[in-house]
Amino acid sequence: MNKPFVPAASPATWLGVMGGGQLGRMFAQAAQAMGYQVAVLEPADECPAGQVAQHLVNAAYDDAAGLDALAAQCVAVTTEFENVPADSLSRLAQRVFVAPDAHGVSVAQDRIAEKAFFVACASKSHVMPAPHKVIASYEDIDAIGDDLLPGILKTVRMGYDGKGQVRVRSRDDVRAAFDEMGQVTCLLEKMLPLAYEVSVLTARGADGESVVYPIAENVHRDGILFTTTVPGPNVSADSALKAQNAAQAIVSELGYVGVLCIEFFVLEDGTLVVNEMAPRPHNSGHYTMDACVTSQFAQQVRAMAKLPLGDVRQHSPAVMLNILGDIWFDGESVSEPAWDDVLALPGACLHLYGKDDPRRGRKMGHVTFVAPTLAEAQAQLQAACGILG
Ligand code: ADP
Ligand code: MG
Repeated sequence: MNKPFVPAASPATWLGVMGGGQLGRMFAQAAQAMGYQVAVLEPADECPAGQVAQHLVNAAYDDAAGLDALAAQCVAVTTEFENVPADSLSRLAQRVFVAPDAHGVSVAQDRIAEKAFFVACASKSHVMPAPHKVIASYEDIDAIGDDLLPGILKTVRMGYDGKGQVRVRSRDDVRAAFDEMGQVTCLLEKMLPLAYEVSVLTARGADGESVVYPIAENVHRDGILFTTTVPGPNVSADSALKAQNAAQAIVSELGYVGVLCIEFFVLEDGTLVVNEMAPRPHNSGHYTMDACVTSQFAQQVRAMAKLPLGDVRQHSPAVMLNILGDIWFDGESVSEPAWDDVLALPGACLHLYGKDDPRRGRKMGHVTFVAPTLAEAQAQLQAACGILG
């Protein structure tokens, strides 16, 4: 059970976050802007959030002493990644307000539980996930119906940025992929004909009120988010409304408190399909930092501190470009990208995460272009891509 607390924005009040990555860093920065002090629990001693937080509890995510230290210091705790052990959130909840809670996080971190939940609330959300089947044995593979192939085999836990996924065309492919993944329980999903992908960021307060941000259109490259555009050039008013209504039904059915992002597919025939949800601020919601009245991180602070939720209004069209470590490399040589040229572009808002070793595929930062019109923001994105290569 969550123990309530009286919200207080006094500078002496501490908020806690499980996880020290870039989402924890941007959460800490938003909380600090509102007068809070922030403690981060993270096993690594050097991390993006640890660089800015007032306190770092250096402990494993399931370390009882570390969790108790965080609970003793903070009035409320949130999480910045979905793979935090649900038991750790339950332990924290005995002493402090925890948002999101163990239930919401445990559903989102397990693809089987997540798909079952989407199916269970389809009568309220009016969207279904892709056809799928649990694969836990060779017998399960033998029993795969032709209607699920070609498909994508996904590990049930710990998948992100397209990792832990293999595209399969036949039962033999599934067998090989299942072996390759060490025979961990997987989910086979039918490969769907996607027209485009969108995400809906929502926030729900402890009082059950929820807000929904403008729908975002996402382009992925090699399984990693490449750009987010809001308003999405392909998004019809009808699919936007359907996705936003579905997202609000889903958070309410989950009894969720905090920021949650839901990914959807829009198929070539216009059907909306719910893909997955992240129980935290999301990469596709970074545009809110520069283009909305309340950023997704400030919204998380409000939800966990039981303050009124903030205005989700978007004041400028926006395009967000993820900055991966790849752009530091030119053949053998490694050099800093030309940030001065990027920042000379009108409407450029650069966010770097304080990571000192660029690696290919590693998220190092993002840049959002805001402009009076979407076409202008898109033109700046093209210019930035030209500069960054
Ligand atoms: P992750 O946790 O890695 O983000 P996703 O389930 O979102 O995993 O899959 C990553 C990407 O793979 C999606 O954004 C989409 O482009 C593609 N994808 C995933 N599932 C399907 C599917 N059933 N049909 C077609 N494309 C898919
Ligand atoms: Mg995804």
